[in-house]
Amino acid sequence: MTPPDPQQVAEIAPDITLRCDKCKRKQSYPRSVDPSIPARVATIVVSRCDRCDNGDFGTEWWLDANGKEVVND
Ligand SMILES: [Zn+2]
Repeated sequence: MTPPDPQQVAEIAPDITLRCDKCKRKQSYPRSVDPSIPARVATIVVSRCDRCDNGDFGTEWWLDANGKEVVND
């Protein structure tokens, strides 16, 4: 087991990946668009994107660079 590289963990990508959980489509989302999103969030997963939208209420959740869910506190 290799411990996580602190340098790598601290690095913040300029874009957040927006991923649709339904069609797996990925989009890039500039972090500057929503400064309220914590810096450790690397990916936003949405239950459906604009293409998959069927009118129901969609949900979204956040993942960090390691794929772990980020809980906003
Ligand atoms: Zn989709």
